[in-house]
Amino acid sequence: MQPTGDFHVHTNFCPHGSLDKMESYVKEAIENNLQYLSFTEHAPLPRNFIDPTPASDSAMKWEDVEDYIKEGNRLKEKYRDQISILIGFEVDFIEGYHQDTEEFLNQYGDQIDDAILSVHMLKAPDNTYVCIDYSTEEFERIISLFGSIEFVYETYYQTVKSAIKHDLGKHKPTRIGHLTLIEKFANLYPTNKTFDSEIDEILKLIKEKGYMLDLNTAGLYKTHCKSIYPNQSVIKKANQLSIPFVTGSDSHEAKTIARGFDQLPTDIMLSVPSKIYKS
Ligand SMILES: [Zn+2]
Ligand SMILES: [Zn+2]
Repeated sequence: MQPTGDFHVHTNFCPHGSLDKMESYVKEAIENNLQYLSFTEHAPLPRNFIDPTPASDSAMKWEDVEDYIKEGNRLKEKYRDQISILIGFEVDFIEGYHQDTEEFLNQYGDQIDDAILSVHMLKAPDNTYVCIDYSTEEFERIISLFGSIEFVYETYYQTVKSAIKHDLGKHKPTRIGHLTLIEKFANLYPTNKTFDSEIDEILKLIKEKGYMLDLNTAGLYKTHCKSIYPNQSVIKKANQLSIPFVTGSDSHEAKTIARGFDQLPTDIMLSVPSKIYKS
């Protein structure tokens, strides 16, 4: 029997999400008969890192962290007979800022049950930073900044590799978020090459480290993507390596909890976040 859970969920603490209260996500998860719900809010960005998105809305605020954890713990207790609630973060890996990320994890690692390590930010050739999944306009600007779309993809996969390799201390997340997020606008901006060798290398590293993959349905609902992250060919390769997958909707509103889970492949190994076993 495969575990049923939505392990990638945002909240009203996310500035680019909805105002839906955390409790409404819990109720929706219970209605969907899920065994688990994991809140993985975007961890605050390093204090001296300037959010490169036009709206500066990529992550939760530092001053909200305590309230977020507190509310998660309240709900965990209140609904304990109906669902297992986890509280955690989606942590950004940003080239050049891993020290700050490690400090954040050291500060809050003991208080959380789960975490995802994701790459949304890339360092551009002119040493500025960009956010790859913000908008089509922004993505177009990124392509011209890098000189070619292929170089954007290469840099993305290099950064993912770096995220997997880097030591981020004992609370480093062991699950890699939406591995093919770089394909969010792929139908609009196709590439002239495939990135098989990069992907193969990344999956090999994930296997070696004993990490898991976020199996993320959000891409299915993106106009220019229409695919699960990672895409089907990567899922197949990861499955051949017996890399475990952890399901997530990446919901930014309550009503999309577990959305698209009926379209997930059925012949793969689903797992639960590693910390669950420790408690
Ligand atoms: Zn988000
Ligand atoms: Zn993400």
